[in-house]
Amino acid sequence: MKILVLNSGSSSIKFRLFAVAEDDWRVAASGAATRIGEDGAAVRLSWTDAASEVHSREDAATIASHHAGIEHIVTALRHTGALGGIAELGAVGHRVVHGGEAFHTPTLVDDDVIAAIRRMIPLAPLHNPANLDGIMVARELFPGVPQVAVFDTAFHQTMPRTAYRYAIPGYLYREHHVRRYGFHGTSHHYVAKAAARMLDKPLSHCNLITLHLGNGASATAIREGASVDTSMGMTPLEGLVMGSRCGDIDPAVHFYLCRHLGFDNDTMDDLLNRQSGLVGLCGVNDMREVHRLAEAGDEDAELALGVTCHRLRKYIGAYVAVLGRVDAVVFTGGIGENDAEIRRCACAELEQLGIALDPHANAQVQGRVGTISCADSRVAVLVVPTDEELEIGRETLEAIS
Ligand code: ADP
Repeated sequence: MKILVLNSGSSSIKFRLFAVAEDDWRVAASGAATRIGEDGAAVRLSWTDAASEVHSREDAATIASHHAGIEHIVTALRHTGALGGIAELGAVGHRVVHGGEAFHTPTLVDDDVIAAIRRMIPLAPLHNPANLDGIMVARELFPGVPQVAVFDTAFHQTMPRTAYRYAIPGYLYREHHVRRYGFHGTSHHYVAKAAARMLDKPLSHCNLITLHLGNGASATAIREGASVDTSMGMTPLEGLVMGSRCGDIDPAVHFYLCRHLGFDNDTMDDLLNRQSGLVGLCGVNDMREVHRLAEAGDEDAELALGVTCHRLRKYIGAYVAVLGRVDAVVFTGGIGENDAEIRRCACAELEQLGIALDPHANAQVQGRVGTISCADSRVAVLVVPTDEELEIGRETLEAIS
């Protein structure tokens, strides 16, 4: 059986096609349609042929819409033989960013689910419409094939209200849905399961702090396998320092800037979501570039690293306090998987909390699974490459089984 995973964003559609046999998930093809609706649109595709050889190609195309994008992807999948026909497709799994309070688990899509995702658009105005486009087009192109929505927010629906409520008047929660939801749930869940296997314990017995550090970044406190707190809030702006998002900030900065500099809401949105974080502090959002600048003596880049790691250490400490007992701290995402220096700084001087890195092991682990704590560290420190597409694929299969 084949399972297609679609991650439909505002100007791109990433996809992965899995060939599933028993517990074996082989990637038959993967790629993306990019720059949808813009000049220079293209469909990139890598696929593995019957002789296990990997091929890739990139086709320039005019892609005016998500509909055209998915049609191009399907045509390319069929041309290369990665997908014989629609009858091979067991299901299509869709990443959906915001499920609000309505969705706690991956959900088979029907008209009611589509209406509920649509109602969530005000909470995720950039993401949910694009995710919905993907669902609507796939429904049309693959009639009769089950579509499953996998929500970034679902894993965090186990948070207690003491963690998810903001200390603002209750009617804003009850009537306007203002609360913390959390994101990256698929990734936190995936690495938590992998960590449990590494610790040789059922996930339901594990207390973990998972750190997803990519362009977007979030920390999650997991008690007995369930999310009990996470750093992102009503939107993915809250929490850690990110590539271009500020993370935690005093909300009074907003009205100060509006009053004193005449900024309006759109300016503030752009400032805090796209001009802040690493970009705001030192002008670049790629962590590798931040390191290069810092090594060359750029003080702003050094400060950016310092602010990032200070915030990370604060969250680790806070989540030790939330959880009491911690079995492991887990690093993932492009930075968490590859950046030994950020991991070292994030865990520096946390021995009092039972967290002690092995510098040698830490330096060795790049882009692969590994244990980077000392043998006598009370808390294990693990690196686990995330795989959100695989997790969406697996959850899709579970939802239709
Ligand atoms: P996204 O959130 O877009 O999925 P990723 O998880 O791919 O992002 O992470 C992107 C971040 O990972 C970038 O800041 C990039 O610089 C960083 N990164 C990737 N490889 C390395 C590396 N070898 N060392 C340090 N940072 C890295």
